[in-house]
Amino acid sequence: PVKRNKKTQEARMKLPICGEEQAIMEAISNNPVVIICGETGSGKTTQVPQFLYEAGYGNKDSDNPGIIGITQPRRVAAVSMSKRVAQELSLSEQEVSYQIRYDATTSPKTIIKFMTDGVLLRELANDFLLSKYSSIIIDEAHERSLNTDILIGVVSRVLKLRAELSEEEKSKIKPLKIIIMSATLRVSDFTQNKNLFVMAPPVINVNARQFPVSIHFNKRTPDIDHISETFKKVCKIHTRLPHGGILVFLTGQNEISILCRKLRRKFPYIKQNQDTYMSRQLLEEKEIINEAVEKVRECLTAKQADIETEDLDIGDKEVEEAESFDTDSEDSEDIKDFDNDEMIVDQHAGPLYVLPLYSLLSTHAQLRVFEPPPEGTRLCVVATNVAETSLTIPGVKYVVDCGKVKERQYDVTTGVQSYVVGWTSKASADQRAGRAGRTGPGHCYRLYSSAVFNDQFQQFTVPEIHRMPIEGVVLQMKSMNIDTVLNFPFPTPPDHDKLRKAENLLQYLGALNENGRITELGRTMATFPIAPRFSKMLIIGQQHGCLPYIIAIVSALTVGDPFIKDFHLDNNRNSDEEEENEDDRSNELSGIHKENILQKERRKLIRKNFYDVQKKHSGLDPTSDILKLLSVVGAYEYEGGTDKFCESNFVRPKAMQEIHKLRGQITNIVQMNCPGVDVCVDPKMKPPSTIQIKALKQIITAGFIDQVAIRKGVIEKSSKTFSSTRNVEYCTMWTEDDVFIHPTSILYHNKPPNFVVYQELHKTSKVWMKGVTVVESS
Ligand code: ADP
Ligand code: MG
Repeated sequence: PVKRNKKTQEARMKLPICGEEQAIMEAISNNPVVIICGETGSGKTTQVPQFLYEAGYGNKDSDNPGIIGITQPRRVAAVSMSKRVAQELSLSEQEVSYQIRYDATTSPKTIIKFMTDGVLLRELANDFLLSKYSSIIIDEAHERSLNTDILIGVVSRVLKLRAELSEEEKSKIKPLKIIIMSATLRVSDFTQNKNLFVMAPPVINVNARQFPVSIHFNKRTPDIDHISETFKKVCKIHTRLPHGGILVFLTGQNEISILCRKLRRKFPYIKQNQDTYMSRQLLEEKEIINEAVEKVRECLTAKQADIETEDLDIGDKEVEEAESFDTDSEDSEDIKDFDNDEMIVDQHAGPLYVLPLYSLLSTHAQLRVFEPPPEGTRLCVVATNVAETSLTIPGVKYVVDCGKVKERQYDVTTGVQSYVVGWTSKASADQRAGRAGRTGPGHCYRLYSSAVFNDQFQQFTVPEIHRMPIEGVVLQMKSMNIDTVLNFPFPTPPDHDKLRKAENLLQYLGALNENGRITELGRTMATFPIAPRFSKMLIIGQQHGCLPYIIAIVSALTVGDPFIKDFHLDNNRNSDEEEENEDDRSNELSGIHKENILQKERRKLIRKNFYDVQKKHSGLDPTSDILKLLSVVGAYEYEGGTDKFCESNFVRPKAMQEIHKLRGQITNIVQMNCPGVDVCVDPKMKPPSTIQIKALKQIITAGFIDQVAIRKGVIEKSSKTFSSTRNVEYCTMWTEDDVFIHPTSILYHNKPPNFVVYQELHKTSKVWMKGVTVVESS
């Protein structure tokens, strides 16, 4: 007996998928694997779990007592969709729960569980039969995220095994049901791949009522500045076109913040009575202004990229991080337009209710897009790809598509990675356009020409497995005793070189033996929700009482650099002095107001504080960026983990909280897996001693043993000396390019060391090393 309130019931009945409930449930009961294709917003994610639930799945007394599991490539979706389904079914958060890397609401009462695909992959290592589950729904399969692809391959094997075991006499094991859901019809990689599913699974198409969307191409394609172009387009729509929500697609958090601010300035929404929106808006405004003025903008720096690379894998898929990663600092230029006349408030058009939407935003802030906008306002959501298929925003009539997407690229041979803003695919552009036609006929404005679309857009987005390093998943597979990774049923197999390279690295780290079999060490490594090289550091970290420090370090490395980046530190900027002069000149031109001076003073002060903080945290050891991380993590915990600490230390609170959680998690795993080792998270952890610092640096070196760089002068036996590392060339094992120490490194202003290990290589104008540690001679 399902209790749904009347409103929910009515809304549900309008969803196209509800017309297919019977066909879907019949297909599921007659087939081990079913594929469901349906337009975004047709009700797949929220309704299919409910169909299973109503058919008795998850009911302890039924034939299918196991949990209904649903995987998502994005954390956001896992959290918000579980809340939505709990609400629709009038069940508790424990009954309809979610689990993501840092958080879970699961309990013994759980019936329906949303999780990231990374979480399920990790569960597979401990329970290859997925015995807790009666059914697994793999959602957003069209996105072809790395973990989704691997998961589909693995569950195809689990399915077989469960089917075989269930036939045995008196078996308690029941067959598993797999449902793969996609927002597009392009599922032939799953249906036609005999290695994956011998029998092609049935495909159910949900015919969503999709209203026509007129596509308007730009005559010309703007060069780089798609933000200004987007701004103009939204202004035009808002001032000239009939009511209806606007959804804008941009590539990242930074761009989104800039556009939101511009739009809020132009069409302010002010409500007289108490309204939290206003205070929230003011708060956000304040934040954004601060960011813009001080040019100390929040972003995830290089190490965040590392998460995606190395950690791909094992933890949650982190599609979202790309959003916040700045490809280059050039876009800080956009801020300049704030002062031009575009910013004059337009009172004719009425207020615009502007909401940002990207994955790093809190769940609470994300859920705001589902609420109707305040009376008399028009909704305008400025989003990243997350609005392409994962979340459906009601009432959108106009889509403005910049046509771009930020994607990580990774060079398999060199390990060099970069974030590149490039054209999205035709398939994605069509998905974006489709968002305008959910509730009525709509319009999509593409800020590029039809010629560019036809000639430069690829048909489909390349599956992530072809763009990411894969040692994490390879280790995960090995720990599931999938030994011949080369034969693994990948929907679209990566090339053998790439698989071999991953195996080689794992052998380096001692996780695999020379036959490619997993070692005991490898098994232990696989139990940690972190990249293999970080696990390795943990395991060798049990010397000189270093383990608590190493746990803190790998937690920080996994979460990503928590420090807010100062754009002035970037390589493209010249010295601060020049910067100041430039400011002076422009101030003279525009006539100095008092406010400007005040702001400038403030900016100076903030910048000074910023540098002081960097210095303070480098105090532990001036030769390792990674020990700087340790310093800030230790200090944060010591001072009680407050937001105030984060503010005055220029670190992101969300990152610090995640590091804190991960520390706890890893500590528990160590205690469970390494009997005799006694660790706990000590909030008053003392700074490491000199001996410990030395040991820590050796452990770090061992973890990055394949990422050593040698100063070119050493190889060339040149006797030239340098006072800073600026323009000093280094060589690595993997790339022919010279590499350089990044200006954000604490080593940047020092005498260049001969040998360093780096955490990652990142390509912009040059190839940079980030997360640098001087190799300690023993
Ligand atoms: P699909 O998975 O096929 O894209 P969903 O099941 O996510 O579709 O969404 C179905 C409908 O439910 C959409 O119209 C969406 O706007 C609505 N919806 C989803 N989540 C929420 C929520 N938290 N609040 C209000 N409406 C929601
Ligand atoms: Mg969905």
